[in-house]
Amino acid sequence: MLVAIDGPAGSGKSSAAQAIAGRLGLVNLNTGATYRAVALVALREEMDLGNEGALIAVAARMELSADGVSYGGAHILEDALRSPEVSAAASKVSAHPGLRRVLVERQRDAARKAEVSGGGAVVEGRDIGTVVLPEADLKIFLSASAEERARRRALQTGRESELERISKAMHNRDKRDSEREASPLKPAPDAVVLDTTSLSLESVVSRVVELANERRNNVRKSS
Ligand code: C5P
Repeated sequence: MLVAIDGPAGSGKSSAAQAIAGRLGLVNLNTGATYRAVALVALREEMDLGNEGALIAVAARMELSADGVSYGGAHILEDALRSPEVSAAASKVSAHPGLRRVLVERQRDAARKAEVSGGGAVVEGRDIGTVVLPEADLKIFLSASAEERARRRALQTGRESELERISKAMHNRDKRDSEREASPLKPAPDAVVLDTTSLSLESVVSRVVELANERRNNVRKSS
């Protein structure tokens, strides 16, 4: 079974996807980590974020699995991927269509492996339902008001005093992610859109698990 979870920054994708995968007994794949990892290496090596060829060479050495991302065989620590600088750079590098093609292949490989070995995956990102796994059994698009998403991110990172700055950075990232030509952030036509603004994490998780179980039962009945 493949569950696609897309949505903008701060929509609660990561927390929800992790919990949903746990309850359904599936692997959790976070595709944003692949764009973040390319951005991290590019920043460390002082590469030009506009140099797609150089970024593709970095992407070719990335691997994605349930444990996260590795570069040239070495695991990249999750904490290193979470800084505001890496978030902004990830959104910039992710606009390159050639780079996306390489990373999308990595993401599909990881999902296929999870299907073969673990029964499936909950895959989160921006274009999972539209591009990476258009054949996913269930597609969810999580949204929430801009204020709520900034508030959540500030709480999550312990930077409550920086709400305004977080809100601005998030707005810029959303704008870039939604307006880019290559795979812009948007719900797939057959996605279930959930506005999580006034929903608890638990209610989002139970709703998606319920939908996934319904799909699973329908697939069993028809096969
Ligand atoms: O989901 P996360 O915030 O970690 O993603 C970081 C950035 O990576 C996003 O702002 C977006 O630009 C890019 N991304 C993407 N497609 C995905 C996942 C992430 O373009 N499937």
